[in-house]
Amino acid sequence: MRIVLAMPETLWKSAVEQLKHAHESAMVLRVRRAQSAGESVLLVRDVIHVNESDYEERSSTRLRLPSRAWFPILGQAAAAADGALFVHTHPGGSALPSRYDLTVDEELVPPFQLRTGQPFYGSLILGGSTDAPTFTGAVIDASGHRESITLIRVVGRRVWVKQAERDSTNGPTTEGTDDAPLHDRQVRAFGVAGQALIGALHVGIVGAGGTGSSVAEQLLRLGVGKITILDDDALTVSNLSRVHEAGLEDVAESKVSVVARTAARLGRSNVDAHEMALLTPHSLELLKTCDVLFGCTDDQRGRAILNRLAYYYLAPLIDMGVLISSVESQLTGIDGRVSFVSPGTACLLCRGRLDPAAIRNESLTPQERAALVAEGYAPELGDPDPSVVTYTTLVASLAVHALLGRLFGYAPVDGTELLFRGLQDQLRPNHVLPNPQHFCADTTTWGRGDTTPPLDQTWA
Ligand SMILES: [Zn+2]
Ligand SMILES: [Zn+2]
Repeated sequence: MRIVLAMPETLWKSAVEQLKHAHESAMVLRVRRAQSAGESVLLVRDVIHVNESDYEERSSTRLRLPSRAWFPILGQAAAAADGALFVHTHPGGSALPSRYDLTVDEELVPPFQLRTGQPFYGSLILGGSTDAPTFTGAVIDASGHRESITLIRVVGRRVWVKQAERDSTNGPTTEGTDDAPLHDRQVRAFGVAGQALIGALHVGIVGAGGTGSSVAEQLLRLGVGKITILDDDALTVSNLSRVHEAGLEDVAESKVSVVARTAARLGRSNVDAHEMALLTPHSLELLKTCDVLFGCTDDQRGRAILNRLAYYYLAPLIDMGVLISSVESQLTGIDGRVSFVSPGTACLLCRGRLDPAAIRNESLTPQERAALVAEGYAPELGDPDPSVVTYTTLVASLAVHALLGRLFGYAPVDGTELLFRGLQDQLRPNHVLPNPQHFCADTTTWGRGDTTPPLDQTWA
């Protein structure tokens, strides 16, 4: 089981700030758990610090708390249908659990599970310093089975990903060493640890056409750990002008099968390919444990779902679009956009990148749409838009650049979009603030996870 702890940046800062104290500190994380095949994500909803007056003992190497320090916090978690994780710090030290820590975990499993009503208990240890925190963590289920939290993902203007500190008896501290020759030149750019981070990521891609096939191609060669890709289209001859790795023999095959084959040719079996659109709760299930999502679809409804997923499951969305304009076969515009959507930034609706009318039109049956078109109420969806491989590939590269820059911290964080104007040779950052009344600015939607109906949306 891959277990990831996902946190909004503000909550993460509030937790690691406790490492500035010379003595140990205790907190409770309120979490929701989202699970899909072999993966589990703990979505952090809140960080609650234990009252200063409740510590019975507090030193640089030890702390002791009475049960009354927890009970009110666990009661609040239960009322909100949240589970709870016990967190304590090892200031300036290793985040590995002591023998005493393991005993405390065993003791806390029954009261935590009973009081929250959730079938799991979790613990997290923060070591190191506020500037260079380390962690270890585990989840213990009702049967007492203990599994490690392997990754923390902190989402905000950056995508900050950290692997758990390892015991030296647990083998090498970096993964993917088998691929060392394949990634040698990248390791020279990002370092061995950086390459291991890329290898630890699970990335979702929606759309395997011009931009999606290029994003997938790049992520495969970068060495991303796992890719889940969705597209319900089969390849046509006219797609061959821009779908990477596709050939004549692939016509009528699914677009996603081309991506899976590219992975196989690189000796990887890490692509989970699904010939479906992101339109059903089932397709959402496939993406909710991803660390990052790429929106490579023209479909406004699929993009609207990704737009909510980013907040509900704390998984940043890198959404892109390319618009080639032409009047009577004369090129009049080349416009590309890469939007970084994550808790703490504006959603695509607030940015005006999603058209509610178009979403509604796409959800109509063909008969309903024909009726509206006949009455002049809906835009004709007849002729396909112009598309050129040079620009779909360029925008896909800018989108992957947006991920790498935020993962490794070299991207400026004041902009949340990159806009390309081909006719002006211009590339510029853009930033739009969220509407404070909108769901994206409401912190109670951050990490809300599984709801009925999914994403609090009506599904056709
Ligand atoms: Zn400890
Ligand atoms: Zn919004």
